[in-house]
Amino acid sequence: MNVKFDSNAIKELNKKFSNKTPEEILEWCIKELGQDIALATSFQAQGMVLIDMLMKIDNNARIFTVDTGRLNQETYDVLDEVRSKYNNKIEVLFPDRKQVEDMVRENGMNLFYKGVENRLMCCQIRKTNPLNNFLKSVDGWITSIRRDQTTTRAEAQKFELDTLHGGILKVNPIVDWTEDMVWDYINKNKVPYNKLHDMGYPSIGCEPCTKAVKEGEDPRSGRWWWESDSAKECGIHFDHSK
Ligand code: SF4
Repeated sequence: MNVKFDSNAIKELNKKFSNKTPEEILEWCIKELGQDIALATSFQAQGMVLIDMLMKIDNNARIFTVDTGRLNQETYDVLDEVRSKYNNKIEVLFPDRKQVEDMVRENGMNLFYKGVENRLMCCQIRKTNPLNNFLKSVDGWITSIRRDQTTTRAEAQKFELDTLHGGILKVNPIVDWTEDMVWDYINKNKVPYNKLHDMGYPSIGCEPCTKAVKEGEDPRSGRWWWESDSAKECGIHFDHSK
């Protein structure tokens, strides 16, 4: 892995691509970094938009996901749908078996309901650690975060130096999109999507930690719904130590 970007280069990229489309950003990613950049996805609606755009540019581009072992069947269904529709062998990352075994032996299978610290430990072991290990092997990653999702994402830029992951490039091509734009794209392009979205789940994580929300409620309120004053983030896009 070679880190190829510094803060000046990031500034220039944000200037150059400020009015460009997500497709133009993805084309640049593939042209510049090829197999040294990968799209991260959990197969939620916004991720499906980027998968479709990226696969139309290069269906050998790298896509990866983390299987925490606690996902919904509907998530596995859409993962396999993507594999066959785009003929792409999605890279599925699993957590370290020993870490999971030690965690559940000490704290039980449903430790996340017993306090934020336990929940963050579970997210760290099942989700963040596999992702962190994977990101050591690439020069950049592409994510589908949007500024309007959470206050913690409100300042996100199209191009960032990812200081949480060794200063590699982090590209957020639809950071300025809205939920409506995401669904317009999905409907117009007949993109497959997770069927839980039709059952009242605007945001989808692990099965025991996500529930449907009512019309008009904060879309993220179904994530870790029993927590009231925590950042509704797992640690992938947010540093909980600050
Ligand atoms: S979302 Fe829940 S089950 Fe999934 S990794 Fe985090 S705490 Fe564990």
